Amino acid sequence: MQLSYWELKNWFTNVDYTIVGSGIVGLHAGLRLREKYPQSKILILEKGILPQGASTKNAGFACFGSLSEIIDDLKSHTEEEVIQLIQKRWNGLQLLRKRLGDEAIDFKPYGGYELFLKDNDSSYSECSNRLPFVNEILKPIFKTAVFAKEVDRFSFGGIHEYLIFNPFEAQIDTGNMMQALLKQAVSQDILILNQQTVTSYHDNKNNVEVALGDFSFTTKKLLFATNGFANALTNGAVKPARAQVLITEPIPNLDIKGTFHLDKGYYYFRNIGNRILLGGGRNLDFETETTTEFGQTEIVQKKLEDLLKEVILPNQEFKIDHRWSGIMGIGNSKNPIVSQLTENVYCGVRLGGMGVAIGSIIGTELADLV
Ligand SMILES: Cc1cc2nc3c(=O)[nH]c(=O)nc-3n(C[C@H](O)[C@H](O)[C@H](O)COP(=O)(O)OP(=O)(O)OC[C@H]3O[C@@H](n4cnc5c(N)ncnc54)[C@H](O)[C@@H]3O)c2cc1C
Repeated sequence: MQLSYWELKNWFTNVDYTIVGSGIVGLHAGLRLREKYPQSKILILEKGILPQGASTKNAGFACFGSLSEIIDDLKSHTEEEVIQLIQKRWNGLQLLRKRLGDEAIDFKPYGGYELFLKDNDSSYSECSNRLPFVNEILKPIFKTAVFAKEVDRFSFGGIHEYLIFNPFEAQIDTGNMMQALLKQAVSQDILILNQQTVTSYHDNKNNVEVALGDFSFTTKKLLFATNGFANALTNGAVKPARAQVLITEPIPNLDIKGTFHLDKGYYYFRNIGNRILLGGGRNLDFETETTTEFGQTEIVQKKLEDLLKEVILPNQEFKIDHRWSGIMGIGNSKNPIVSQLTENVYCGVRLGGMGVAIGSIIGTELADLV
């Protein structure tokens, strides 16, 4: 890259804060830094033409965990950890709504539902039994019961008669949310450069040298918000997890509204107007889906189509309009990693499957580390 004097002066000289990754976390980190340091030069480097990980690819659930997910988390995390995580997701959603406004993100508080397949009796009875307990531990956050049994009024196929309803869940327009965040960042004088991959860095103690292929520049502080691409950065603590999604064409008289979870969060669907978006199935082939490569596989796509035909739209004709995938960052804990790596280098990664909710808080925590 041969840059002019002007390009070097305005974009790459006296850089105070460089953020790697323009997903939800990177953008919120930039906005928080701007709040704290109004005069600083803040640069965000993004390897894609758009944010190219999970933030523009997700399903737009404004959620904090389905009942079966929370019960599952209680098996591998302490009660306190689980409550803290839910509190953070809830706070994150409020921060996101406050920062961008409900209209901008098309916030729709339709509520969320969990379905249980007929052949999954054990999860259904476990959720029925543990529901009062989970409601009790969440009372301090929501002041009232979160989960309640409701008869299925959507005529889903092959499921137990009762769904679990959560009135606090909502849906947003992911594209609108990310565009609003990007606009806000630009309007607050945060420089965003796309198609720039950070290939390495060196912390010199006084500053950090950042390499973009064969070009390098220095920044006072370097913040990584690279989530599913942070495997090497975190010595393997973050693993990539591909998530495949499809969307139907518009379906006349579609009577499904809300966000829906199935099988401990491994499948999720929602309406977008009169279309259905459905994603999941990573659990069918964990090995292949542990990748940073975008793409679809036959096994996952077939399962998604079967679910549409047999469970979600058993009595309706539909056509699939489009398919895509995104890359999440997961690990052996649901807690994101927000930490200092060297004197002037930091990271906020491992957002898991609920980054829409927790992303704003993790971006803020990352910025508050410096
Ligand atoms: C299909 C799918 C559905 C989902 N559904 C939901 C949902 O409904 N609700 C919910 O809460 N969460 C959902 N999630 C999870 C949520 O989208 C993520 O947790 C969240 O977007 C993570 O944000 P992030 O900023 O940490 O990461 P990302 O959005 O992945 O951003 C990281 C960015 O870093 C960039 N980058 C990486 N390496 C480099 C480098 N070396 N140089 C420059 N740039 C780099 C990437 O291109 C990327 O844009 C879903 C995820 C997927 C994939």
